[in-house]
Amino acid sequence: MYIPFARKYRPRLFAEVTGQEIAVKILKNAVKSKKIPHAYLFTGPKGVGKTSLARILAKALNCLNPVEGEPCNSCENCISIEKGNFPDLVEMDAASNRGIDDIRAIREAVNYTPLRGGYKVYIIDEAHMLTKEAFNALLKTLEEPPPRTLFILCTTEYEKIIPTILSRCQRIPFKRVDVSSIKNFLLRICSSEGIEWEEKALELIGEASEGCLRDAASLLDQVSVYTEGKITTQAVEEFLGITRKEKVKEFLLLLLNSKVEEALRFLRNLHDSGFDLPKFWDQLESLLREVIICKSVENPEEFVEDVTLCSSFSKYPLEALLYLENVINRGKQEARTRPTLRAYELAVVKTLIVKEIIPISLLLSDKDLLSKNSLESSIFSKLSSLASKALKEAEREIKGDKTVFKVEEEIYTNFKEEFENLKKEVPFVDFEVIKKKGSTGNTMSLF
Ligand SMILES: [Zn+2]
Repeated sequence: MYIPFARKYRPRLFAEVTGQEIAVKILKNAVKSKKIPHAYLFTGPKGVGKTSLARILAKALNCLNPVEGEPCNSCENCISIEKGNFPDLVEMDAASNRGIDDIRAIREAVNYTPLRGGYKVYIIDEAHMLTKEAFNALLKTLEEPPPRTLFILCTTEYEKIIPTILSRCQRIPFKRVDVSSIKNFLLRICSSEGIEWEEKALELIGEASEGCLRDAASLLDQVSVYTEGKITTQAVEEFLGITRKEKVKEFLLLLLNSKVEEALRFLRNLHDSGFDLPKFWDQLESLLREVIICKSVENPEEFVEDVTLCSSFSKYPLEALLYLENVINRGKQEARTRPTLRAYELAVVKTLIVKEIIPISLLLSDKDLLSKNSLESSIFSKLSSLASKALKEAEREIKGDKTVFKVEEEIYTNFKEEFENLKKEVPFVDFEVIKKKGSTGNTMSLF
C-alpha cells in the first residue's frame, strides 16, 4: 500500500521531531518529571507538527516501557496508539465537530477513568473552530478535570481562543520550520526511499513550503512521482512553476532595454506553459530589489543573496531601476483587480519609457540638477559656442516648471534666433530680457 511521505515520515519519537526544539524540550521534561498540566494549548502555523507531537506525548504518557521520557513504540499501548485504536486517546477535529454535543460527549467520556491505567488524552484539533457554547462546555471540564486527564488543544489561530480557556491551558508555541531543517528532513526521506536528489532542489522545496513540514513532504512526494525518482532543480522549478533566476534576469534586462515586444512575448510564453505568473512577478520584484540594493550600498553581501547576478545591471542608472520598481509594484497591485496577464502586460508597456523618460523626469523633478549638469548636455549643446557661453553666464531662476534665463538685452538681440529656437525645442526653458547689469553706468566707454 502506498503511504504518502507526509504520513509515512511523521515523527514517532520526541527525538524525531523537526524544528520544534522548545516545544519538545518542555513536553519531554514534563513527562520525565511527571508534572503534566490538565491542558496544553499548542499554537502555531499549520503543518509544523502540532498533532504529531500531541500523539507522541499521548504515547509517552501511556507507554509501558518509556525510556528517558520517550515512548518505546513497541509496547501494546504504543502500538495501539500508532494504529489509532487506543481507547484512552480521543482525537477530535473541531473544524467538523464544533458543536456543543461533541463537547458534551467528551465531558461524559472524561468521567470514566482511563481504561488502560495511564492517561486519558483528548486532542482537539483546530480548537479555534469550536462554537462559543462548545467552548463554555469545555471550560467546565477544564475547571475540574478528573485526575490523569490531559486536554491538548491545537490551533493555528491563537487569538480566537477565548481568554478563560487560555488561562487554563499551558501554551506551547510552535514555529515555522526553517529551510535548513526542512532540507534535512527531506534528505532523510530521500535516502531512506532511495531517491536521488540535488541539494538545490531540496532547498527550493523547503523555500516553497514556507515553514510547513507537511507541505514540504507532500511536495517531495509529488515531485518524485513527477520525475520518476530523481529530484532535480529543474524538475522542482517546472513542477512548482518557479522560473529560474536566470530567466527572471533575462526578462528584467528586456524591460530595462525597452524591448517591449520581446518582453510581452516572454510573458505570454510563461502564461501559456502554465507557469505561476504572480510568483514570477514576485521573483522579478525581489531580483530588482537586490539590484537596487547592490547599487545603493557599499557592502551589498549583507543584504543580498547573490551579488554576482547584480553585476549585469551595473550600467543602468539607479533612477531607471527605481522607476521600474514602481511600475512593477503597481502592476502587482493592479493584478488584484483585473486579469493577471493583462495587468502585467500593461506594466510591461509602461516600462517602455524607461530609457527615454528618465533624463527628462530627472530634469523636471530636480531643479538643482536642471541648473547644472544635465542642462549642459541637453540645452547648451544645442547652441553655438558663443550663445551657450553667454547663456552659461546668465542668471537663472526657476519659475514653476521652467528655468528662466535672465539675459541682457544686447546679448538677447545678438542670439535671438538661436534662443527662440531653443525655446521651441525645449519647453522648460524661457528667457527674460533685462537691462544691462552692473553699476559701471556707462558701458559705452568700452567701445
Ligand atoms: Zn511503549
